[in-house]
Amino acid sequence: MRIVHCQTNHMTSPLGFAMEKAVFSWQVEDARGTHQKAARICISLFYDMHELLYDSGAVEDADSLGTEAPVSLMPRTRYYWTVSVRSNLNETAVSPVSFFETGKRDERWQAKWISCPDNGRHPVFHKDISVDGKLASARLYICGLGVYEAEINGERVGDEYLTPYCNDYRRWLQAQTFDVTKQLENGGLLSVTLGKGWYAGRFGYFSKPGDPGCYGKDWKLIAEIHLNYADGRENVIGTDETWTVTRSTITDSSIYDGEMRDDTLPETETEAAFLVEEDTPLVDRYSLPVRVQEERKPEQLLHTPAGELVLDLGQNLTGSFSLRVKEPAGTKIHLQVGEVLQNDCFYNENLRTAKAEYWYTSNGEEVLLEPKFTFYGYRYVKVEGIPDLKKDDFTALVLYSDLPGAGKLTTGNAKVNRLIQNVEWGQKGNFLDVPTDCPQRDERLGWTGDAQVFSATACYLTESYAFYRKYLHDMGEEQKDLDGMVPDIVPSLDKRYQSTAGVWGDAACIIPWNLYCFYGDRTILEEQFESMKAWVDYIRRKDGDHHGWDEQFQYGDWLALDHPSGAADQCLGGTDERYIARIYYRNSARIVAKAAKLLGRKAEEEEYNSLADRLTEEIRTEYFSPAGRCCADTQTGLVLALQNDLSPDPEKCRTRLAEKLRQSNGKLQTGFVGTPFLCHVLSRNGMEGQAYSLLLNEEYPGWLYEVNLGATTIWERWNSMNPDGSVSSTGMNSFNHYSYGSIARWLCADAAGLQPVEDQPGFRTVVLSPIPDARLGKMELEYHSAAGRYSVFWKTRDMNTLHLKVSIPFDCEAMLYLPYAPEELFAEENPLFQEVADGVCYLHAGDYEITYHTTRPMGICMSADDFVHVLLADKVITRALEEVLPGISNTPDALRNKSLRQLMIERMDATEELIEKADSAVKNAYAV
Ligand code: BGC
Repeated sequence: MRIVHCQTNHMTSPLGFAMEKAVFSWQVEDARGTHQKAARICISLFYDMHELLYDSGAVEDADSLGTEAPVSLMPRTRYYWTVSVRSNLNETAVSPVSFFETGKRDERWQAKWISCPDNGRHPVFHKDISVDGKLASARLYICGLGVYEAEINGERVGDEYLTPYCNDYRRWLQAQTFDVTKQLENGGLLSVTLGKGWYAGRFGYFSKPGDPGCYGKDWKLIAEIHLNYADGRENVIGTDETWTVTRSTITDSSIYDGEMRDDTLPETETEAAFLVEEDTPLVDRYSLPVRVQEERKPEQLLHTPAGELVLDLGQNLTGSFSLRVKEPAGTKIHLQVGEVLQNDCFYNENLRTAKAEYWYTSNGEEVLLEPKFTFYGYRYVKVEGIPDLKKDDFTALVLYSDLPGAGKLTTGNAKVNRLIQNVEWGQKGNFLDVPTDCPQRDERLGWTGDAQVFSATACYLTESYAFYRKYLHDMGEEQKDLDGMVPDIVPSLDKRYQSTAGVWGDAACIIPWNLYCFYGDRTILEEQFESMKAWVDYIRRKDGDHHGWDEQFQYGDWLALDHPSGAADQCLGGTDERYIARIYYRNSARIVAKAAKLLGRKAEEEEYNSLADRLTEEIRTEYFSPAGRCCADTQTGLVLALQNDLSPDPEKCRTRLAEKLRQSNGKLQTGFVGTPFLCHVLSRNGMEGQAYSLLLNEEYPGWLYEVNLGATTIWERWNSMNPDGSVSSTGMNSFNHYSYGSIARWLCADAAGLQPVEDQPGFRTVVLSPIPDARLGKMELEYHSAAGRYSVFWKTRDMNTLHLKVSIPFDCEAMLYLPYAPEELFAEENPLFQEVADGVCYLHAGDYEITYHTTRPMGICMSADDFVHVLLADKVITRALEEVLPGISNTPDALRNKSLRQLMIERMDATEELIEKADSAVKNAYAV
């Protein structure tokens, strides 16, 4: 037995993060026992744990998902801790020593904010740090505005990019802590270069190149170096007027527009820094580090028909790059990026006003260029000024926040596997400190709706707690100035961006609730409770007694395909926006009530439950006929009705949803609201075959349509690209938007069937309810949940034979629903059946396996009685049919509206025998 994954506040060895309290979590592996009997937590100021600050003793109810350390936290202090666990079989193990270290907390800064004039060239602030003895430790506490990069003796401090990151700079500023013990061993020169970043550069879709920054305009730096000598002396060196300034050769930087560097510029005179005011509170960091998480080499160097030199990275990604250059002095080098080619040539019109470029003027020496203060969303790079460009000289630096992987998914279908990768890349590309809508155009904003829609998916794919915690903190801070309103984008820049809407603002309730369900730590609810409540109260005030919330502009089922106008670049969908907003309002009220219950806030629990009940009744009265018909008669409308249990007669909604799908030829029409629930609702309402058909559909619109057109990320619109590869529109069209990537949640929660349960959150207890389909063939999910590692594997040996394997981690339980299992199966000898009730197998930690014949074929079973157009829309069936009926795929459109049987009788004069053969070809097309 061993203890792994010891974390503090859901981070491994956090250094300098904001923390009200320290919450420990851990996992147990390789145990023979199935449960934790007791755990003991020890905390010390010493690595060898010789003097304990705290010893819990063996405690029976110590929660491995989150146990608060009862120590009062001091500033700038490293705490070491261990946990020992005893299992139900009396095995014991002690964890390795973990640590967390506090930042400055509310300690006063001795350093002062300093600045220098703006003369175009980006400033570098310097200070000689002298060290006169052996250092026990040295720390740098620092914040620079807009963004900063620090060096000691020419060597980078840490490996983070774009510090101090992006948040509401009007309300709080983040300071990072760096361990510089090694770098300052013998003292040396500390230099800090500043760039404009989100603070001082133009930002927001209303801005144009050259516009001023939206938060501030001055260069500003504050830094404190704490030298702790082995002999106990401490020396603090803070920014003040003794610091000096020189100028770098970077002449401009901008998140949207890129960076400019001119190495022919002369060295500058040394200036003195001066003091400057800064009133915004400076607090310990919330943002996770953004680092180069991956590097990629170009796959190709293209010589385009337009005569351009274009590097193709083979993957749409987000980050910076490095480029080795040695060109004659005075040579101007220009790089621009794009996501797709058009007519085999470079293209970047969908970036709108974002120039997303890099300019460099060479001084003749060989250099490794690397933009510091910007990032790009790109797959293609057009390079000018380097005639004999070599693709090996370029490296893409993929930047995103520290997000340890959690879920690994693979299926039996190569295109679905590519889709899964696209979802993962969509997350990487849009998790650069803020959950953004897109990483490339003049937007890259923390749209709350997009963030909310993808949040559960993100929790399946990566450990996302600490990442969202920062976003939610920022959201709560914004609300304080806005009477509880959640702005559509967080951070919200300025007044022009401070509108709100349902579904979007509901992120304030949905994201914390998802985090609670996935990680089982209620701290997030404690931290966010005021924000959650303030949002619901804001709507309640707007709504008043006359449904004022209905008057508000709503995005509704954003980018759905069923708006009556039918226009390709339409943004609004066809579902009544007021219906959607009301359901989300009601759901948020319910979440506040559930959170209040967990936090022991009885009065609020009752208040928000009765609000949610009242809203449910109002929705039913207004949007459902007494007999149960749903007035929001769209795919999304019906999906929401079923998902939220709103209809007095759900069967009516099911039938209508099936009808709606048939009317659209089995294709989806849903937007941001309906898509995340569409397949889930279908598969939990007896239409799992249709859910798989949507996943596997390769025609427009659908996920694999994008894959077939070469997508390597998820697109913003179902029709971002036309079937001929042309970009459909430029007004609002990104090739890296993660919202529709929420299909990966369905793959994990429904296809693989692994779901958290609300009253045993954090995957302590799960529902395991896989839905196999022979068309997908197999499915494997390995999920490192907060409670430990689960795995689910299924394979359809043929339409009726299922092989299933699951593993449940230590101290966890699963309720397994065997799909399509015959009753007699439960009488077999198998550890799965030790505890069965009502067809549900109750499982403890361990590995389980079974193969059985299902009571029905797994997957949609089509036959010769289906419409020809439906059969021919399926490539596998078409291939099988071609073998029996060569040429069938050329059936003219006019005849496709018949069933295959009809067509064969009426038009082919086919024998009974041939019809039988065709029928069995269809039925067995997916048999493996
Ligand atoms: C963004 C979004 C966002 C939407 C809301 C777009 O410009 O890219 O994805 O949610 O606006 O209106």
